[in-house]
Amino acid sequence: MTMPDALPLSDTAPLSADSRPAPAPAAPVVQDLHTIPRRPVQTGRINLVGLTRDQLRDALIAAGTPDRQARMRVGQIWQWIYHWGVRDFAGMTNLGKDYRALLAERFEIALPEVVTRQISDDGTRKYLLRIAGGHEVETVYIPEDSRGTLCVSSQVGCTLTCSFCHTGTQKLVRNLTAGEIVGQLMVARDDLGEWPQPGAPRDETRLVSNLVLMGMGEPLYNFDNVRDAMKVVMDGEGLSLSRRRITLSTSGVVPEIARTAQEIGCLLAVSFHATTDAVRDRLVPINKRWNIEELLASLREYPRLSNSERITFEYVMLDGVNDSDDDARRLVRLIQGIPAKINLIPFNEWPGAPYRRSSWDRIERFADIIYKAGYASPIRTPRGEDIMAACGQLKSATERGRKTQAQVAAEAGL
Ligand code: SAH
Ligand code: SF4
Repeated sequence: MTMPDALPLSDTAPLSADSRPAPAPAAPVVQDLHTIPRRPVQTGRINLVGLTRDQLRDALIAAGTPDRQARMRVGQIWQWIYHWGVRDFAGMTNLGKDYRALLAERFEIALPEVVTRQISDDGTRKYLLRIAGGHEVETVYIPEDSRGTLCVSSQVGCTLTCSFCHTGTQKLVRNLTAGEIVGQLMVARDDLGEWPQPGAPRDETRLVSNLVLMGMGEPLYNFDNVRDAMKVVMDGEGLSLSRRRITLSTSGVVPEIARTAQEIGCLLAVSFHATTDAVRDRLVPINKRWNIEELLASLREYPRLSNSERITFEYVMLDGVNDSDDDARRLVRLIQGIPAKINLIPFNEWPGAPYRRSSWDRIERFADIIYKAGYASPIRTPRGEDIMAACGQLKSATERGRKTQAQVAAEAGL
C-alpha cells in the first residue's frame, strides 16, 4: 500500500470535527433498498474477489489444493467468478463436490453491499456502497449512445484537499482493497443484468464498456490495490476490459506516473486545472509538492512508456479563477509536444462550494482557442447532477471528520 508520506503536512493533518450541521444530502430520485440483494461483508472467510491469479493460486494451495492442480483450478474458479458472475461455490459444476465444499468452508465471493441506488433523469445511476468497517463509497454508471462508463472510487475520502472538489472536503478514511475496487464493477454488472447466460449467444455489446478511476480518492495514493484490481479487470478470461478502455485520473502524483505506465498501462488523465503554479497551488495543493514543470516532464514520458495514445488534461472551468483567454493560450503553450486532448469540465457545484461555474460563453471561447491550436477540446456534459453524481460531487454523507466551510474557503485562499 502506498501512502502519501511525501505530502506537505497541511494535507495530512487531522481535521477538527465540523461544528456546523452538515448540508442535507440531495433527495434521492429512486431509492430501492428492497429490490437489490444485500450481502454480508464480513464472514471470517477469505474473499476471493480482487485476488490476482498468483494470489488466488497461493490461497488455493494454502487451503489444501495440490500444487500440480492449482493452475487449472485457478483458471476454472476465475471463469466462474469473473466470466459467469457466479457467487456460490455449489454452482461451479466442473469442480468435484468435496472440493466445492472445501472452497465454501474457506472462501467467499463477496461484493460491497448496495445501500442505495439512485437513478438520474438522464439515466445516470449512482450506487452508495457499504464496505467493511461500515464505510461508504460511491460508484457512478453513465450510459451514453455508444458506450457505458463506470466511474469507480479508489479511497474512502481523499487525503488531498483540492478546493473545488466535494470529496476533498472529506478526510481520508482508508484505501479501498483491490476486491472493493473490482467489486464496484461487479455490483454494476449485477444491477444492469450484464452477466452472460449459459447457452445464450454471445452478446458483444457491453453495458459497462469503459471504466474510469475518477470517483472518490486519489488512485495513485493506493497504487498497489488499484494495480491489482486493474489486473483482474483487464484479464481476458473474465471481466475483460481492455487497457485502452480504462482511464486513471490523477491529481499529479508524479513519482507514480511512470509506474502507472509500466505496471498498468491504461490511459491517463490528469487534473491540470490551472496554468500557473500560483493558481494551481490553490486549486490542486499537491502542486506545492510537484509543480507544473515536474508534472509535465512525467507526462511527456507517459505515452512512450505505456505505448498508449494521448493524455487527457482535465480542466475545471471556474468563473474568474482559471478561465481567461490568457489561461487558454498558456495551457496550449505548456502542453506543446504532448499528445493530448483537453477535457473542459464545467464546475459542478456542491453545498458550500467556494466557486462558481464559468459562463457557457466563456467555456466555449476557451474551448475555441484550444481547438484552433490543434487540440480536441470537448466540454464534458455534466451527468447526474440531480442526484449529485457529477464529477467532484461524490462524498459519503455518513463519514465523520468533515471540514467546516470556513476551512474549505481558507484552503481556496478566499
Ligand atoms: N483524485 C483523482 C480522481 C478523482 S476526481 C483526480 O483528482 O484526478 C475526477 C475529476 O473530477 C478530476 O479531474 C477532478 O479534478 C474533477 N473534479 C473534482 N471536483 C469537481 C467539481 N466540483 N466539478 C467538476 N470537476 C471536478
Ligand atoms: Fe482528491 Fe481528486 Fe478531489 Fe483532489 S480532485 S480532492 S485528488 S478526489
